[in-house]
Amino acid sequence: MPTTARVAIVTGGARGIGAAIARRLSHDGHAVAVLDLDATAAQPLVDEISGTGGKALAVGADVTDEAAVAAAVAQVTADLGAPTVVVNNAGILRDNLLFKMTLDDWDQVMSVHLRGAFLATRAVQGHMVEAGFGRIVNLSSTSALGNRGQSNYSAAKAGLQGFTRTLAIELGRYGVTANAVAPGFIETDMTRATAARMGLDFEELSRTVVAGIPVARAGRPEDVAAAVGYLASEEAGFVSGQVLYVAGGPTA
Ligand code: NAP
Repeated sequence: MPTTARVAIVTGGARGIGAAIARRLSHDGHAVAVLDLDATAAQPLVDEISGTGGKALAVGADVTDEAAVAAAVAQVTADLGAPTVVVNNAGILRDNLLFKMTLDDWDQVMSVHLRGAFLATRAVQGHMVEAGFGRIVNLSSTSALGNRGQSNYSAAKAGLQGFTRTLAIELGRYGVTANAVAPGFIETDMTRATAARMGLDFEELSRTVVAGIPVARAGRPEDVAAAVGYLASEEAGFVSGQVLYVAGGPTA
C-alpha cells in the first residue's frame, strides 16, 4: 500500500530512540516535528533530515507542561500541517530501590511518561478525528513487566499500556489506532546512564544483558524505529491496542 505523507510528532526526538524514529518516519515519507526539551538540541537532526530532502521541524517543549504542549502542536500545525501521527517517546529514568526512592523520583517519572503522553495525545487527537486517520504509538518497555530498581519506571511503562488500550477503544471509530512498542535493552544514552549508575562499564553491562537475549545482540534504536514505522503506517490500520515487544526474544 503506498504511503500517504502525514505530519508526525516525535517527543524526545532529539537523540536516542526518538531520533531513530524521526529518521525512519521521514524515510517513510512523513513530515516530522522533532519535539524535545530544547529546540536547539533537535536542530542538528532536523538539518540532517532536511539535507536528505525530508521535511522536519525542531520544536522545544516540556511534555509535562500543558501550555507548552498546546503551543508546540499549534506551531507544528502552522509550519508542517495538522499532525496525525504522534509518537510518545520522551522519557527519563530516576532508578532506585523502593526504600531509597524519593517522592520526587516517583513524581518526575510519572510526569514525563504518563502526563507527557496524555498531554501530547490529547493535544493532537482533534486533528486525527477531523482527518479520520491517526496513529498513536507509545513507548513502553520490558520494564513494565517488573524490573529491580525501577518501581517508578515500571509503573509508568505499565500505565502506558493501559493508556494505549483505552485510546484504541475510544478512538478506533475515527480511524485512529493506538499501540505501544516495548523495547528491551537498546544501546542509547539512557542505558549508558544505567551502567554508570550501577558502577559498571557499559560494554560489561551490555555483555551481561546480551547473554540473556535469544538473538544474541543488544538492540539498536533502528530496531525500535522499524516497529514504530510499521505501526504508524497506513497498512497497520487493523492493528490497535497492542503491545509489540522489541526485545530480541520472548518476554517472561
Ligand atoms: P534518551 O536517550 O535518554 O532520550 C530521551 C529523550 O527524551 C531526550 O532527548 C530527552 O531530552 C527527552 N526528554 C526527557 N524529558 C523530556 C520532557 N519532559 N519533554 C520533552 N522531552 C524530554 O532515551 P532513549 O533510550 O532514547 O529512550 C526513549 C524512550 O524509549 C523512553 O521513553 C524510554 O523510556 C524508552 N525505552 C528505552 C529503552 C532503552 O534500552 N534505551 C528500553 C525500553 C524503553 P534531554 O536530552 O534534553 O534530556
